Amino acid sequence: ANLYGLDRWGKGLLSALPNGDVALCDPAHPDAPPISLPEIMQDLQQRGIASPLVLRVKSFLEAEIRTLNEGFAEAIQRTGYRAPYRGVFPIKVNQQAQVVDRIVEFGRQYDYGLEAGSKPELVIALAHRLSRDALIVCNGVKDAEFIRLAILSRRLGFNTVIVLESPKEAEIVIEVARELGMDPLLGVRVKLTNQISGKWESSSGDRSAFGMNTDQLMRVVDRLRDEGLLHCLKLQHSHLGSQVPDVNDVRRAATEACRYFTELTGEGVPLTHLDLGGGLGVDYTGEKRASENSINYSMAEYATAVVETVAYAMDEAEVDHPVLVTESGRAVSATSSMLIFDVLESTLYDAPDAPDVQPDDHHLLADLAAVSGYLVADRVQECWNDARFYRDELRALFRRGYVDLRQMARAERIYLNLMARIKDIARTAEANSELDKELQKIADVYHCNFSVFQSLPDVWAIDQLHPIVPLQMLGQEPDRRAVLSDITCDSDGKLDQFILDGEIAPSLPVHSLPEDRPYYLGVFFVGAYQETLGDLHNLFGDTNVVTIDLRPDGGFDLLHEQEGDTIAEVLSYVEYDPADCLAAFRKMVDEAISAGGLKASDRKTLIGAYRDSMNGYTYFE
Ligand code: PLP
Repeated sequence: ANLYGLDRWGKGLLSALPNGDVALCDPAHPDAPPISLPEIMQDLQQRGIASPLVLRVKSFLEAEIRTLNEGFAEAIQRTGYRAPYRGVFPIKVNQQAQVVDRIVEFGRQYDYGLEAGSKPELVIALAHRLSRDALIVCNGVKDAEFIRLAILSRRLGFNTVIVLESPKEAEIVIEVARELGMDPLLGVRVKLTNQISGKWESSSGDRSAFGMNTDQLMRVVDRLRDEGLLHCLKLQHSHLGSQVPDVNDVRRAATEACRYFTELTGEGVPLTHLDLGGGLGVDYTGEKRASENSINYSMAEYATAVVETVAYAMDEAEVDHPVLVTESGRAVSATSSMLIFDVLESTLYDAPDAPDVQPDDHHLLADLAAVSGYLVADRVQECWNDARFYRDELRALFRRGYVDLRQMARAERIYLNLMARIKDIARTAEANSELDKELQKIADVYHCNFSVFQSLPDVWAIDQLHPIVPLQMLGQEPDRRAVLSDITCDSDGKLDQFILDGEIAPSLPVHSLPEDRPYYLGVFFVGAYQETLGDLHNLFGDTNVVTIDLRPDGGFDLLHEQEGDTIAEVLSYVEYDPADCLAAFRKMVDEAISAGGLKASDRKTLIGAYRDSMNGYTYFE
């Protein structure tokens, strides 16, 4: 467990049981017994729910909402800040109904709202009963239809804020408001010049795609004033990018945002809400420092940084403290989901024994086998060099026809046996840590039942790191190292970067696969951005998704099951009609029977197999 760093990045949500199982801990009931993940998997299996699956934990989601809102409430109280916090959850970060429903339900006590970045997301937001003071913040490109719905929703008591992204959008709003004869609730999105570090550096600052520069901003303010709508402009929005690694970037951005706010107030704009967008990060690696996959602050420290910075700037400019809004998505939802899959088989890159060299074998086989005779700790690098050289020479001879297939097979096995011993020596000998690192790259391949493209798109697209841990046997020393290959036929479909001891390693320490039970691996913190960004590469569809609640007695309740895509469903996504496919197959069977190639009794078997596949899960069953 120490090796995988559960206690560094696990935020107290995960622990290792004495039997080596990874377990879930309920943050709301710290004294409740942790619940074993392999046991949860076994239980789900018995209920007919197979891996791969996404497991959502209700109490994890609630814990993040609580920590965020209470973090702000405490900072506000401590600082003497004179306005509340009204966070909104950006729907795009996880649009799944189970997640958004839960957020709205649990967030009601905090007047927590929603952010919509598109028409469909606004439609989702308006299907929820929010508290009276909660906001719906509308960002992104908006047409007249979007704006009309946003304005009209005010009639039902929604605080739907249309955040103006450009002077052109302001014109559409002016027109629709006039047509409806209603006052809109407006915001303006300002483009901060501060840039952040980390993965989203290039999309922050001056060149960010969204928001207005100072010139555009003043044009919009003047237009609204001319149209008698300036009194509707209540919120100022900015967003400095996702996963901000350094809390001081948050302070700098908030300071800049406050300059706009106090200037606009001075211009007579009756702003009441300051929205600082998303960016609150997740410590995926547990390093607790400002780096691409880690952050140097906690949620509470983020809240303090925002509250103190805004209080200071407003007091200095003698402007009333605005209601604080953030659109934190990743930090709220990432930890609540995990992807769990089983390992199907392994390709080992070493062998436990070596065959004897035969009298007629090429002399290079004997040279290769002889390496074993001088394999000792201080010659291990030399032995590895020699073994590779002889093996590569033998491969060249095989290609030219001087070594036959059986000899080549013997050579490969002798080489793999040498590799087993070389890796063992390098792992244990102090002086060979560099060589050990090098050899870690020559790891086994564990073939796993999932698709990177469907379930972990950011790993493929932006090298996102997630904590990855075997879910069982943590009490036993891992005896293998592996990269994890997915079930797609794409060489990019693999996981080959792992967080170990706070460092990035090219392979994961794992155990030899047990014969009598599944070997599960968990990829943690996948609740933000992964589910809908995923795609259908090789037509692997959505996995099963299960939402559970942790019970104080150490059990769990199954709250919801969303079955993964069947093959018929993924076929329909790519324009096939499953019924037409079945009809075409049936026709071929009947033609083959007529032509005498098949017996009539074969028909049932063939069509049954086709139909079973059509209704089955897209993953290995
Ligand atoms: N608000 C806006 C406007 C965004 O573009 C984003 C995402 O980048 C977010 C909020 C959510 O950001 P995060 O998930 O980093 O909290």
